Amino acid sequence: MKENRHPNYLCVHSGQLKDEVYGGATAPIYTSTAYDYRGEGTNLYPRYFNTPNQVALGKKMAALEHTEAGMIFGSGMAAISAVFMAFLKTGDHVIMQRAIYGGTAHFAAAEFENVGIQYTLIEQVDQESLQASLKPNTKMVYMETPSNPLLEVTDMELVSAFAKANSLTSAIDNTFASPINQTPADFGIDIVIHSATKYLGGHSDICAGTVSCSQEHMDRLWKTAKNYGGSLSDQTVWLLERSIKTLALRVKRQSKNAKKLAVFLDQHPDIKKVNYPGLKSHPQHELAKKQMNAYGGMMSFELKQYINRTKFLEELEVIMPALSLAGVESTILAPSTTSHSLLTAEERKEQGISDGLLRFSVGIEEPEVLIADLETAIGKSRKKN
Ligand code: PLP
Repeated sequence: MKENRHPNYLCVHSGQLKDEVYGGATAPIYTSTAYDYRGEGTNLYPRYFNTPNQVALGKKMAALEHTEAGMIFGSGMAAISAVFMAFLKTGDHVIMQRAIYGGTAHFAAAEFENVGIQYTLIEQVDQESLQASLKPNTKMVYMETPSNPLLEVTDMELVSAFAKANSLTSAIDNTFASPINQTPADFGIDIVIHSATKYLGGHSDICAGTVSCSQEHMDRLWKTAKNYGGSLSDQTVWLLERSIKTLALRVKRQSKNAKKLAVFLDQHPDIKKVNYPGLKSHPQHELAKKQMNAYGGMMSFELKQYINRTKFLEELEVIMPALSLAGVESTILAPSTTSHSLLTAEERKEQGISDGLLRFSVGIEEPEVLIADLETAIGKSRKKN
């Protein structure tokens, strides 16, 4: 059969463990932590990332991300930290985009100094700032696009060309886009990471992470990852594989909904600003159009000052204020009091995170229901009322 690379097909059929005994439609779960080591086979052990369910899901992630290999971790941070520790050593330097997930930024701030790794955060990922941050000991460039919570879009082709020209490893956190909307390996990025807790899991009930890359990079990563021990239980691996079967459908619907909601909010008189790559007003809209298949289910927007943010969040009945994102249900959060609350007000201002900014993860509900929920909550929280 001709190779089928359609995301719907890959979500359902790639990396599928077959039920050879009963011919069931779903994959069996192999929960053993002890395997008979006699014979020719490899030593199977969950922390070696090589049990049947882990290997099968790794193949699905490789297929979805257009890479040779994939590996499954116990969380997004387990994947991210393993990548840093595998590809950087004492004395190395990494260039990182400033607008990255807070936990990743915190990992760099809390851990790199202890092991003698240097890092530079860059505001704008362009040729000049990349070049200006390059040092003789630079080994990696790390980014996230679209970024959290301002949905800034980074030029992946530019980053990968810069990395190749300077023999650096390029790594990207592709969580916000998901492999349905963006496949960074097609733009030459070496290592693609996900917090599978988000779109890949998609039902707000799994904490996991993934890495997709070439077999050569994977061999290097595996050597370190097995020492840090951040593997995922096979029961949850199985659940994640089951969830990914509907990933393309979910993300397609979420992206479609988000576009409608972004347009609604953009035209709303009580909304100051909407950050969504699918809007023509977004500063990197053309770039997003070039490198994304659709613009995703994530956006952020700013309420005008006369809207009471606390009351607005209280008045929402369908959209749930919650810390995580990308589930089938719509969720929202105020970065200034949650993800970015540890920054000073001054630092938040510098990063463009106002008190009225809200990060909105659009679910699969009917868009009309979400629009009505927002409209009612806005109406009830005008301070001038
Ligand atoms: N990357 C991004 C973009 C995230 O939003 C998160 C978590 O919110 C992570 C990584 C970390 O993932 P996890 O919480 O699964 O460790």
